[in-house]
Amino acid sequence: MRERAIVPASEPPRQLFVVVECGSISMRMRLAPVAFGERFAAENGRYGILPIELIGDRDDDSLAPAFHVFRQLEKERVASDGATLEGIFDAWGEGLASRGLDLRLERRSFYGAPLPPNSRGLDGGRTSLRPWDIELTAIEAELRRAVKLDRLPPAYVDEIRANVLRRGLLVDVVSPSEPTPDGAVTMIVARDRPTLSTACELERALLVRGGAQVVNDASAKMGELLGYPSCCTARFSRVLEHNDTNLAWALLPARGEPVSPITQWLQPGLALLSHSPCALSCAASLDLGGRLLDAIDDKEPGLAERWRGVATRVQVVDRYGNRVAVAVEGSLDSPREIEAAELLGSGGSDPDAVDRVQGLVGRELCANSEGVWVADTDWYAAYVADHRDRPPA
Ligand SMILES: [Zn+2]
Repeated sequence: MRERAIVPASEPPRQLFVVVECGSISMRMRLAPVAFGERFAAENGRYGILPIELIGDRDDDSLAPAFHVFRQLEKERVASDGATLEGIFDAWGEGLASRGLDLRLERRSFYGAPLPPNSRGLDGGRTSLRPWDIELTAIEAELRRAVKLDRLPPAYVDEIRANVLRRGLLVDVVSPSEPTPDGAVTMIVARDRPTLSTACELERALLVRGGAQVVNDASAKMGELLGYPSCCTARFSRVLEHNDTNLAWALLPARGEPVSPITQWLQPGLALLSHSPCALSCAASLDLGGRLLDAIDDKEPGLAERWRGVATRVQVVDRYGNRVAVAVEGSLDSPREIEAAELLGSGGSDPDAVDRVQGLVGRELCANSEGVWVADTDWYAAYVADHRDRPPA
């Protein structure tokens, strides 16, 4: 990728996406600085490694040396101020080669702190342009046989139950085996009794820590029942930690061609799909999301258009944890003037979020495969999904 003359005011921290391989088994990992308080699987000096996706047999431990070797890298080489990510990568690669493992560089990107927590509950965040009852809309429109409302605060349970029953649907609550501090529960909604009991049984199986195979089988069956495309369920089961941050690093591509807004999931307040698409261009997800958008439009005319107005943008989470929908025209191969910027959520950690995001308007957005930034400012974003492609009319 061509280097730009236009650079951010301060160099963003970087991370590497790497692949450790041993025969037919491989693991995608991140190699990143530990300075930002993130917890890594193995740390050494100023750097840490974290697995994100496993391709191959989960119970095979042939990749285990990846962690030992990293921990044992010569301290001086890792801890010295001059140690670069590339230097650590080389040292780690040499160590792995001596144990018969290959290390391959997938890409380099800006480092982004873990995503701010945000509720996918009733409001989906600060600004939600999706209907609060999108899951119920999907089941009513017969696009899905069952839906799962995850991590619901107890305060919402009665209200949702009443709403579900009013629509002639069936509902059951599945509590986690170890209660969460906030008492959150999962609700399963279905149109018929057999589907509801099967879904609840599978959810209970998933909540109990079982062997990898048991969990994989249960998630495949659950995915099918919930109407998730099988390609997406298969990929989801390869991702090692199902938190938002890891899913974003595992599934969001480096900057490429703009894709449809239908598969947008980086911003929960705009997400139509309840699953994490295997790719932003996943055909089955595009089909499901497109039909759901039609159902929404039938029910609440005008909402789909408002949704498109904000969803059909470059979606980012910036260095401050602000979720921003950035409107720019044209290819990002050149800097482009930011025409509008909508703050969708801030995670509460940036007191200046509103002014900061408004201050982006009129400035030039720069991008490469590492992330996006605004020249001559300290603003950059590591989490990026370009959803500006308008779906066919
Ligand atoms: Zn898919």
